[in-house]
Amino acid sequence: GATDILSPADVVGDCFVLTRHQVEAAGIEVVQDLQTRREVRIARTELQQVLVNLILNAVHAMPEGGTLTVSVFDRDGDVVIRVEDTGHGIAPEVLKRIFDPFFTTKQAQGTGLGLSISQTLVTRAGGTLVASSTPGEGSRFDIFLPAAENR
Ligand code: ADP
Ligand code: MG
Repeated sequence: GATDILSPADVVGDCFVLTRHQVEAAGIEVVQDLQTRREVRIARTELQQVLVNLILNAVHAMPEGGTLTVSVFDRDGDVVIRVEDTGHGIAPEVLKRIFDPFFTTKQAQGTGLGLSISQTLVTRAGGTLVASSTPGEGSRFDIFLPAAENR
């Protein structure tokens, strides 16, 4: 889609509205930590798609509840959008494959396309999508997007 200039902090709220039924049904506590309103260049619907994918993956990792934290902060010339959960985490041999198209560990509802498409959308916007996890403690996905130049 066409590129927008937007504050990621404005898009986080939309994504919690889109996912609130799943988040509430799982008894998950949501924390938002919006530290910057700096802008980036990305299609709003594409950033929404990426964040909804990350939020729903986090929900699936916390079927017994937990905490979902979405933070937005500045890091050098980038705006970072961080989606963290306190779910079951990702084993190292699985972590290597999560961005592969059609890779899923889910029995029924998984297509294995969410992270592959998310990485493509973030990369096309000039950014990077980075995953890390401590099995048994949780997972973290960081979207780095270059801050839009001040004009
Ligand atoms: P799908 O959700 O359809 O399985 P994705 O591409 O979104 O496909 O994710 C691929 C796989 O990465 C998942 O099946 C799961 O094993 C793992 N994964 C992604 N996000 C998380 C998370 N937050 N916690 C634990 N595992 C995750
Ligand atoms: Mg998914």
